[in-house]
Amino acid sequence: MTSSARPLRARIHLDAIRHNYRYAKQLAPYSKVLAVVKANAYGHGAVMVAQTLADIADGFAVACIDEAMELRDAGITQPIVLLEGVFNANELALVDRAELSVVVHCQEQLAWLLAARPLQKLNCWIKIDSGMHRVGFEPSDFNRVYAELRACPHVGELVAMSHFARADEPNLPYTTQQIAVFEKTLSGLAIPRSLANSAAILAYSNAHVEWTRPGLMLYGASPFAEAHPLATALCPAMTLESALIAIRNLPAGEPVGYGGRFVSEHPMRVGVVAIGYADGYPRHAPTGTPVAVNGQMTRLIGRVSMDMITVDLTEIIDAHVGAPVELWGTTVAANAVAAASETLAYQLFTGIGRRVAHCYEIPSTLCD
Ligand SMILES: *Cc1c(COP(=O)(O)O)cnc(C)c1O
Repeated sequence: MTSSARPLRARIHLDAIRHNYRYAKQLAPYSKVLAVVKANAYGHGAVMVAQTLADIADGFAVACIDEAMELRDAGITQPIVLLEGVFNANELALVDRAELSVVVHCQEQLAWLLAARPLQKLNCWIKIDSGMHRVGFEPSDFNRVYAELRACPHVGELVAMSHFARADEPNLPYTTQQIAVFEKTLSGLAIPRSLANSAAILAYSNAHVEWTRPGLMLYGASPFAEAHPLATALCPAMTLESALIAIRNLPAGEPVGYGGRFVSEHPMRVGVVAIGYADGYPRHAPTGTPVAVNGQMTRLIGRVSMDMITVDLTEIIDAHVGAPVELWGTTVAANAVAAASETLAYQLFTGIGRRVAHCYEIPSTLCD
């Protein structure tokens, strides 16, 4: 990224990511941890995040081979699991060469694996559909799939995995049911298991088993819509910040921005901030969405434009052009912006635009 005078940047607190990783480990002390760094580590930078965790993570998980190769090319030697496995048989040659582990979730992938002639043994994570009904083998197919893979001379270690549809709803019978289906499917087999995403690490300790798979919590956002006591220990790893580029005083009754959707209720001071939906700020964020100027909470007003937003400065009298603005981070929870915009922190983080510079901070003083 070339340096730009535009004040918008995503500051990434790498020590917060280490803190959150250790917290995931502390919550599930008997489990190994597969740190999920797909989608460029949820917008935080996959190589930087993987390097930050390289000395403590048991492995990494990504969505596809390109994401895995980026990590291998950067010198990451830990196990890397392809969460959707391969998309065609040809990818298995690269899987072999780069020593990746693959999820096997369907009959086609199973056939490709069995027909492959790799130089090394392939490690496989067999995915069972315990109730999400997206990908994975039917529980009734598991014994056959397991037997075929176990009998195959070029298949190495096996792990049985499944994924939750509703783990972000604590104390829900559906998740307990998914755990029961999974355990029943594996009964009598001594195979390592993996179930828990971030929400289940925090809310379903009986799902921790041999391997956990935290994603969102590594980046310091809670996976829950409501407050959860165990989620308060997470440290936000991204501060999306910009600055005021203009300030104007409006009399009462004046419209602000596209569509004139917001009309000043009284004489107002309005600030313009260098960020817009082309940077990943949600275009549907309504008037009232929280934003911090000079560390003080205020609100977005009017429509989000491509490169700018407008904010209410009426109560922030000392804010001048150049004053720092936090869109989300340690002052404004990403989840609060997400909730106001009817989306999720997952989408905010992964939607960070290409023109947003990433600044890596190590160490920061934000967390212990
Ligand atoms: C993305 C993903 C995760 C991580 O989920 P979070 O909710 O971000 O913790 C875990 N397992 C699988 C299979 C995934 O695709």
